[in-house]
Amino acid sequence: MASDISPDSSLQDLLHDPWDREHLWHPYTSTINPLPTYKVERAEGCELVLADGRRLIDGMSSWWAVIHGYNHPAINEAITRQLAKMSHVMFGGLTHEPAIELGKMLLEVAPPSMHNIFYADSGSVAVEVAMKMAIQAAISRSGSHRKTNFVTPRRGYHGDTWNAMSVCDPVTGMHTAFGTSLPVRYFVEPPRVKYGEEWDPSAIEELEAVIREHHEDIAALILEPVVQGAGGMRFYHPQYLVEARRLCDEYGLYLIFDEIATGFWRSGRMFAWEHAGVEPDIMTIGKGLTAGYLTMSAVLTTQEVADTISRGEAGVLMHGPTFMANPLACTIAIASLKLLQSQDMAGRLRHLETTIHQLMEPAKALEQVAEVRVLGSIGVIEMKESVNVGEFQKECVERGVWVRPFGRNVYIMPPYPITDAQLRHLITATIDIISR
Ligand code: PMP
Repeated sequence: MASDISPDSSLQDLLHDPWDREHLWHPYTSTINPLPTYKVERAEGCELVLADGRRLIDGMSSWWAVIHGYNHPAINEAITRQLAKMSHVMFGGLTHEPAIELGKMLLEVAPPSMHNIFYADSGSVAVEVAMKMAIQAAISRSGSHRKTNFVTPRRGYHGDTWNAMSVCDPVTGMHTAFGTSLPVRYFVEPPRVKYGEEWDPSAIEELEAVIREHHEDIAALILEPVVQGAGGMRFYHPQYLVEARRLCDEYGLYLIFDEIATGFWRSGRMFAWEHAGVEPDIMTIGKGLTAGYLTMSAVLTTQEVADTISRGEAGVLMHGPTFMANPLACTIAIASLKLLQSQDMAGRLRHLETTIHQLMEPAKALEQVAEVRVLGSIGVIEMKESVNVGEFQKECVERGVWVRPFGRNVYIMPPYPITDAQLRHLITATIDIISR
């Protein structure tokens, strides 16, 4: 009863709901001793408004997704319009204008060789679908049932479902928690040459050796182009992609680019493949696709892959989720792409990159900091030691910002409309916290 609660504890409960703490699972935290969770009342622009009214400048874009800021009038208007027509309809045997219009828009901005689009539910599911596509096409193309495995660089991250997990970094990923139940993949060293450094041809030797030796068992090479995200926030030399393409062509492997995190301008280009000008055979997109409004992803591929699957034993791609091509999600994605098209995004991203760079510069001098790196709208302060997330976030909330570090990485990837003043507050507060 309210009368039993002291003013202090009710204020505390406003921010940290005790029922939530007891019953709701939050990502990657213990049920016995969970990290605190702050209750958000609403969000607008680049700010989250907590239940007690305080406002936080958002440095996370809700995990790369909210590219235009929260509560965007143009996207809200588009959803409302679509809601009045239909929020969902099955995609088996039926189609609809939002799916078609979105597909056309995606092919205009995707690598030119992309031709077929599969709409899926989330990033992880897109990765599952991409891997299934690669296997079905590889078996059909080679006539060999051996070509079912994958090669991937360490420090990658591709999602939390079964096969996506299997190609995440085997040490920092989830392999230890699932023991021998995960399929065993071929792992090679992470791309060693950093973005902006001089390319070293020896950096591809291990990948080449593994592919040369095992290509008969491998359907595809899967990787995150240029930015390894949740596996370590690493930016690497685009030449790695050129070499990866060459090896895949030479040894008959498909090349999968997971652009779920990098897509929609996050790395300074519409998609990260553009840094190298190298096209994949299969590409996954998600997160920013629906601007953080609803969960949806897509897998794009070439006509060769699609038709090879169709000529295979099954004759069809073996996947078909209930919420495939959800019309509301497609409508949101269309509105989001139109917003991107209506702005000078290349210029905007150059400005964000320069500003983040300048504001993060002072962190380099801190003894606790190992490295500071910036690409597009991603700014990373890599610490020498792991960060205590609970403590860090408490300090963030006190300073009116929202940043969620993982491991040794304190990073920001704000919504693109963030103002210079907001960015300054966000980064100054972040540096202030880590300097203590
Ligand atoms: N691939 C990459 C590169 C990602 O960063 C993520 C999510 N962080 C995923 C796949 C999985 O996406 P989701 O969380 O939507 O399943």
